[in-house]
Amino acid sequence: MTMPASAPAGPDHDELIRIVGCRQAYHKESAADLVVLDDVHLTLRSGEIVGLLGRSGSGKSTLLRIIAGLLPPTSGQVLWKGHELQGPAPGIAMVFQSFALFPWLTVQKNVELGLEAKGVPAAERERLAENAIDLIGLGGYENAYPKELSGGMRQRVGLARALVVHPDLLLMDEPFSALDVLTAENLRTDLIELWAERRLPIKSVLLVTHNIEEAVLMCDRILVFSSNPGRVAHELTVPFAHPRNREAPAFRQVVDRIYALMTRRAPIVSEAELPGEEGPQPAPAVQIALPSLPINTMVGMMETLAADPLDGRADLPLLASRLQLELDDLFPLGESLQLLEFAELEDGDIILTQEGARFVQSTHDERKHILWHSLLHNIPLVRTIRAVLDERPNHRASAERFRDELEDSMSPDYAKQTLQTLIGWARYAELFDFDEEADQLFLDEEAS
Ligand code: ADP
Ligand code: MG
Repeated sequence: MTMPASAPAGPDHDELIRIVGCRQAYHKESAADLVVLDDVHLTLRSGEIVGLLGRSGSGKSTLLRIIAGLLPPTSGQVLWKGHELQGPAPGIAMVFQSFALFPWLTVQKNVELGLEAKGVPAAERERLAENAIDLIGLGGYENAYPKELSGGMRQRVGLARALVVHPDLLLMDEPFSALDVLTAENLRTDLIELWAERRLPIKSVLLVTHNIEEAVLMCDRILVFSSNPGRVAHELTVPFAHPRNREAPAFRQVVDRIYALMTRRAPIVSEAELPGEEGPQPAPAVQIALPSLPINTMVGMMETLAADPLDGRADLPLLASRLQLELDDLFPLGESLQLLEFAELEDGDIILTQEGARFVQSTHDERKHILWHSLLHNIPLVRTIRAVLDERPNHRASAERFRDELEDSMSPDYAKQTLQTLIGWARYAELFDFDEEADQLFLDEEAS
């Protein structure tokens, strides 16, 4: 399953990276380790752009750091050109989402940095950096400082800095996601054109993204990552020549197919794996990370779904373009509705459930009541919180304790965000409230 469906594109089939059975787990004091990657297999070869597509938190950046030699995996093998990878390899360069430029250095000096570390003499550094800056369309800006540049231009500097070392493999971690739509499209198009004309001094690209269209637009091969734990769940070949037309029926078909793969029921509320595999283990009360999602956004989505012309069912890619949402906004929304049993995700469609339809038709007070029941019924942590608050004479409890509980199954950042989201939903339902100053959850008089 991890082998490519057909021969990779490009003239050169040399293997660059081979990952065999990689696992990455973060140790937790109080609970089972957090398994971020498990049993990851993948191979990257010269001549191809490979996309790694997956949800936020699925472990894409972690895998990229492993390939960059910045993080040794907990177990498993990483081979670079047939040899075990030991720290950062000279033939691998990385471009980050956040550009990571030094504000006190000019464009020229920022680009030269990659060469300084390699001990390239000054005159040669200057020449190579100028070439990279020209190539990426920033000629004339050599002496500008990052703060004088737009986001798109800064990311071009980030790219030039990676390209200047002429790496065999370029790793890109969501390189367009901090840019506005037009700037991102412009940069993608320029990059693909340079790649297709073989003007980039690189052999292969691994592009991490959560944007399905971006992956289909740019990549020869797409690896679809699952979450909890992250692993390569599907692999597709994209057989179209560049430049590609987003509107072409064949292009849309590939996009639809990926949506369908990513909305299969199974991986949505999977249980975190426990250490060791000796026999059945009691299932822990696994909490899933929730995105920062105001209840009103969910209500809006349900109302759109219920109304004409959708009548309770919509194709996700279609709904995404109708609502101008990206995968990263749409999937968490759909999955949260699914978690609350207000909608179902199925083969690339979202379908309102009976309860969802009832919610939409209800008055505001009835909606509170329906959400109250749904939260208590579907989210174990909400049940715990409510039980603790009911039990206490003053009906207050420290929020920290519940964040700790969440941290057994997710990172501190996700735990914080998840509790915040739950508080928002619980407030709408008047299930409990939050005192930010005291960092305490409490029941107000009516709720208790
Ligand atoms: P992605 O790039 O797909 O959004 P990441 O690789 O950044 O995902 O993170 C995957 C998971 O690993 C997340 O749940 C994240 O919170 C967790 N994680 C990442 N780094 C650490 C760390 N140093 N300690 C604990 N958990 C971490
Ligand atoms: Mg990431």
